[in-house]
Amino acid sequence: MATCLVTGGAGFLGSHLCDELLLRKHRVICVDNLETGSLANIEHIRVPEFVHLNVDIIEPYHVDEPVDFVYHLASPASPIDYLRLPLHTLKVGSHGTHHTLGLAKKHRARFLLASTSEVYGDPKVHPQTEDYWGHVNPIGPRGVYDEAKRYAEALTMAYHRQQGVDTAIVRIFNTYGPRMRPHDGRAIPTFLRQALTDRPITVFGDGSQTRSFCFVDDLIRGIIALAESGEHYPVNVGNPNEFTLLELAETVLEVTSSRSEILHEALPTDDPQQRRPDITRARELLGWEPQVDLREGLRRTIEQSGADVLVGSAR
Ligand code: NAD
Repeated sequence: MATCLVTGGAGFLGSHLCDELLLRKHRVICVDNLETGSLANIEHIRVPEFVHLNVDIIEPYHVDEPVDFVYHLASPASPIDYLRLPLHTLKVGSHGTHHTLGLAKKHRARFLLASTSEVYGDPKVHPQTEDYWGHVNPIGPRGVYDEAKRYAEALTMAYHRQQGVDTAIVRIFNTYGPRMRPHDGRAIPTFLRQALTDRPITVFGDGSQTRSFCFVDDLIRGIIALAESGEHYPVNVGNPNEFTLLELAETVLEVTSSRSEILHEALPTDDPQQRRPDITRARELLGWEPQVDLREGLRRTIEQSGADVLVGSAR
């Protein structure tokens, strides 16, 4: 049994990670100040191997027991959150990552940084391989998130190279599944909420921009495989099947048997046109690839969340 510390463990991805680590018989310390996460995501966990510490990682923090793995996921992740919390987002990526790397160093733990496909910005290379350096606007509204993650990656490599910390970096591409918040502004929960209430589905621009969507169970398997490997350089984890947002809207309509119509809205600033991971490294290093396709993942999201939860307060 290993002890795993999960920052952001009460968030969407973090809570699924806690579930899976406990299923694999590990002890889990969830560090989360509930800034964008929720106790509702972890209240079903009632085992002595799980503990939640309500701690803001922007301030220095300590854990008094041995730790073997540190999964560093804490950060606002949805545009709606990081546009509301720009300075907090920068501080979590900088101070928060500093403190968490320091903790991993002290405990001689393996450290995994949850980075993001946003480090590629609006990419000029397609699909994105890990050796692509990106095309990011540092002063645009999304810069607070993209640059915080780029800084966190640089910090992680510096702790590895200079301080000898055993580190890993996962670049996560769009992921969906149960426990996404209905109003968090991301495409899948928004479309599901709209479709399930037969309200118009709002697609930004003409909907020709592409994304690839990974079901959460696939992603969590990939993250744990990377943490348990000896790799130090970034690895993309995501689903390489690419869809236009219009195709996504149509698939949501089909899976929910909804009568909603599709409405087009203005494109947000710096919205990337294309996004698709090249997962050759994940396949070769970890033997990992996604197993759940979009229709199946959407069905599981609806089934496991319950339509009432997905609809939120929209009714
Ligand atoms: P989320 O907002 O649901 O979870 C983030 C968690 O971090 C929340 O529970 C929040 O309360 C916690 N947190 C924020 N600031 C904190 C602080 N100062 N101290 C302690 N806890 C704090 O987001 P998510 O979608 O689960 O994303 C988790 C991680 O994965 C993030 O680092 C995000 O950048 C990365 N990621 C997610 C996606 C995705 O598609 N969901 C894509 C790329 C990268």
